[in-house]
Amino acid sequence: MDTPMLKQYREIKEKYKDYIVFFRLGDFYEMFFDDAHIAARELEIALTSRDPENRVPMAGVPYHAADQYIYKLISKGYKVVICEQVEDPKQAKGIVKREVVKIITPGTITEISALEEKKNNYLVCIYRENNDFGIAATDLMTGEFLTTEIHCAYPYQELLDELSKLEPRECLVNAGFLQDTFLNKAVNTNFNILLTFKENDYFQAESARELLMSQFSGNELEDIFKRPFATIASGACLNYLRETQRLSLSHINSIRYYERTEYMALDVTCRRNLELTQSLMDGKKQGSLLWVLDKTVTSMGGRTLRKWIEQPLIDIIKIKERQDAVEELYQNYFLRQELREQLKNLYDLERLTGKLVCGNLNARDLLAIKNTVKHFPKIKELLAGCRSKLLITLYNELDLLNDVYELLEKAINDDPPISVKEGGIIKDGFDSEVDRLRKASTEGKSWIAELERKERERTGIKSLKVGYNKVFGYYIEITKANLSLVPKDYIRKQTLANGERFITEELKEYESLIMGAEEKLLDLEYQIFCKIREDLITKITRLKKSAQVVSVLDALVSLAEVASSNNYVKPELTLNDEINIVEGRHPVVELTLKDEMFIPNDTHINCSDSMISIITGPNMAGKSTYMRQVALIVLMAQIGSFVPAKSAQIGIVDRIFTRIGASDNLASGQSTFMVEMTEVANILKHATPKSLLILDEIGRGTSTYDGLSIAWAVIEYIHKNIKAKTLFATHYHEITQLKKLKGVKNFKVMVKERGEDIIFLRKIVPGEADRSYGIEVAKLAGLPKSVILRAQEILKDLEQNDGARAREPQIAATKDTPFDDVQLNIESLKNEQVIRMIKELDINTITPLEALNLLYSIKQKI
Ligand code: ADP
Repeated sequence: MDTPMLKQYREIKEKYKDYIVFFRLGDFYEMFFDDAHIAARELEIALTSRDPENRVPMAGVPYHAADQYIYKLISKGYKVVICEQVEDPKQAKGIVKREVVKIITPGTITEISALEEKKNNYLVCIYRENNDFGIAATDLMTGEFLTTEIHCAYPYQELLDELSKLEPRECLVNAGFLQDTFLNKAVNTNFNILLTFKENDYFQAESARELLMSQFSGNELEDIFKRPFATIASGACLNYLRETQRLSLSHINSIRYYERTEYMALDVTCRRNLELTQSLMDGKKQGSLLWVLDKTVTSMGGRTLRKWIEQPLIDIIKIKERQDAVEELYQNYFLRQELREQLKNLYDLERLTGKLVCGNLNARDLLAIKNTVKHFPKIKELLAGCRSKLLITLYNELDLLNDVYELLEKAINDDPPISVKEGGIIKDGFDSEVDRLRKASTEGKSWIAELERKERERTGIKSLKVGYNKVFGYYIEITKANLSLVPKDYIRKQTLANGERFITEELKEYESLIMGAEEKLLDLEYQIFCKIREDLITKITRLKKSAQVVSVLDALVSLAEVASSNNYVKPELTLNDEINIVEGRHPVVELTLKDEMFIPNDTHINCSDSMISIITGPNMAGKSTYMRQVALIVLMAQIGSFVPAKSAQIGIVDRIFTRIGASDNLASGQSTFMVEMTEVANILKHATPKSLLILDEIGRGTSTYDGLSIAWAVIEYIHKNIKAKTLFATHYHEITQLKKLKGVKNFKVMVKERGEDIIFLRKIVPGEADRSYGIEVAKLAGLPKSVILRAQEILKDLEQNDGARAREPQIAATKDTPFDDVQLNIESLKNEQVIRMIKELDINTITPLEALNLLYSIKQKI
C-alpha cells in the first residue's frame, strides 16, 4: 500500500509520464521508481530506498543545487518537471499540497549558465497541413518571437533551410508533420532536435488567435492573422511556453512575421559548405566565417552577429546603413576602442530580462542589471557625435534607464547573497522599516555581546560564557566549580558533563526581540525584492530596447574591428549584376595558412559577357578556395561587413548556391552521386539571374562520360535558361570547349612544373589547364612509388593510343572466364525485382524525392 505521499506522487507522475519528476520533500528534490534509476545513472548520485518494506527506489538532490542536475538531464535529452510544496508544511492539514510549478525542456531553459552564450536558444513549432507549413520560433530568454510560412509543392528543402538557420534544440510538431516519414527522417538526420509531438487540439486556429491576442498587440496581429498556418504555429508555441513556465511571460510582447525573401536565401548545404558558423571538419566555430568576424565583447552582440551571418540582407538600403556605420567605426579608432571598453562591462541584459520574468532571478542579477545600465550614459556620450544613420538611430534609441539605475543603486546591497530569502539584500536607508528592524537586531546582539562582560563582573565568575544554539537559543554557561556563585535570577536550562547552562528573563526578552526582528527582516527584504522585480517587469520593453541597441552596436564594432585588423575594404554595393573583386582573399584560409602567403585573386563576373567561369587546374591548386572566397566576399558584403580585397563592387545577389564536396549527409542512405544530383536539381530549379552559383566538380560520382555529359548539359542549361553568375570548377578538360558560348570564359590555376614535380602558384588566370597533374598530386600526397610508376605507365599508354578502345588499359594477368549463364539468371532476377518494386508503388502517396530515390535504385538494378 502506498503512503499518502507516494499516492500524491503517482497522481502527478501519471500526468507527466515522459518527464523526470523532481518531487520536493523538505530540502530535497526526490525522484522515485524509474526516474530514480535514471537519475542515479545519469547524475551519478546514490540510489536509496524510501520505504524499506516496499523498497521504493529513490534518488535525491538538494534543492539549492538542483539547477546543475536539471540541466545535466536536459543536456542528455530528458525533460524535467518541478513539483513544489505549495503550502506551508506547518499549516498543512494532512499531506502538504504539491503542484507542478515548472516544466523544463531543451527549448524552454531559463538558466543563463545552461545556455550557449553567443547563440539563441529557439523553441520552434512546425505545423504541417499537406504542403503548407506554419513555422514559429521563440527564444524564451530574450523574448524574441518570429513566425513565417512555407507553401510549395516541394517545401522540404525550404523547411530544412529554416531549421538550419534557427538551429533549435526542440521542435513542437503536429501529426501532419510526423506522418511525413521522409521529412521526419530528414530532420532527424540533419539536426539534433528533440521533437515534441502535440495532438491536433493543440493546433486549433480559434484558440491560437485567442492566445495570441492575450499576449500581443492588435496591430502586430493583424498581419499575422492573415496567415493561418503561421497563426496556428505561433499559438501552439505560445501555449507550450505558458504550459511549461506557468507565468504571464510579459517580456514576450512583440511578434514579427518575416518573409524569407527579406534575406539572402541559403540552403543547408550552402551554409555548411561555406562554413558560415561551424567548420566542416569538426563542427566547431574555429575555422568558420563567424570565427573570423566575431570580435564582439558581449553575449548579446555575439548572438546578433551570428544572426547577421545566418541571414545576409537583400535590401541595399539596409545593407548600406550597416556598412556606413561600420565605416564610421572603422575610421574612428578611438571611438571604436572606447566603445569596446565600455561594452566589455555589460552583462547579458537581454537574457536577464527573460530571467526577470521567468527565471530564478536573485539580487546578484539585479546588480548585473544595474552595472550594465550604469555604462549606458558613457556609451550614449560616445555615440553623440556620430554621423552615420544607423549610429544616430542607436544613439536616439538607447534609453539610459536612469530610473532603473537609481532604484537599484539605492535599494540593492553591493554584495548580496545568492539566496533571496536570507536577507542582506536591501541597502540601509532605502526602507525605514528595514532600518528599524536591522537596528533592533543589532542592538539586541550588542546587548548580548556586552552581557558576558557585565555578568562576569556581577558574579565574579571569570569563566562565565554567553553562547547560542538552535535548540535553546541564547544561554549563560557556568562550569561546575563555579555553580555556587550563580545568582538567584538565573534559571537552569541544561546540565552538561562539566557545567550547567542558564537563562535569565532579560536575556530571553532580548532574544525574542532579535529573533522577531530578524524573522520580520528576512520577510520584509524578500517582499521588497519582489516589489523591485515587479517594478522592473513593468519597464521590460525599455530594458529590451536598450539591450537590443547595445547588441547591434557591439556587432557593428566587431565588424569594424575585424575590417581594421584584417585589412579589409568597404565594398561598393550595386543593383546591377556585376561582381568585380580586385585581389580578393579567402577570409578564413588567409588566417589559417602557416607556411604559405595567401595569394590574392581577381574576379570579374556579370550576367552578359562573363557569366560563367570554367576553372580548371590540378587538385589542391586552389580552385575550391577561390570559388568559396568569391561566395564569402559577396555574403560578407551583404551582411554589411567590409571584405578581404583591395577593392570590390558587388551587385546584390538573391541567393548563393553551392555544390561542393563529395559527400553530404543531407539525406543519408543515398549514394554520394544521388545526393550530388539532387543538389544540382535543386539549384537548377531555384536559381535566378540574380543568384551566384558555385559548382565544384559536378558529375564526378559516376563514369567519366556520364559525368562529363551531365556537367556539359548543366552549363548549357544555366547559360540558356537561368543566366546566373556561375563559377564552375572541373576536371573534364573537354568542358573548356564551351567557351564558344557567349559569356562562358575559361580560367586555370597556374602551376609550375619542375622536373616530375609541380609547384602550386595559386594564381587564377584566363585559359585552360593543359593537364590534370593527377599523378603529380598523388605523389605529393605520398602514394607508394610503385603505384605512381605504374600510373605513369598506364597514362602514357592511354595518351599514345587515342580513341575509345585504348581508354581501357591492358590489365595484366587476368583470365577471361565467361559467365554468360549466370549473367542471364542474374539479369532475369533483377528484372523481377524491378517489376515488383513498381507494382508495390502507391502513386498517390509517394513524394517527388521518394520517387526520384526509387528511380535511382531501379536504375542501379538494371
Ligand atoms: P582544389 O579545390 O583546387 O583542389 P583547394 O582550394 O582545396 O584546391 O586548395 C588546397 C589548399 O591550397 C588549401 O587548403 C589552401 O591551404 C591552399 N590554397 C588555396 N588557395 C590559396 C591561395 N590563394 N593562397 C595560398 N594558399 C592557397
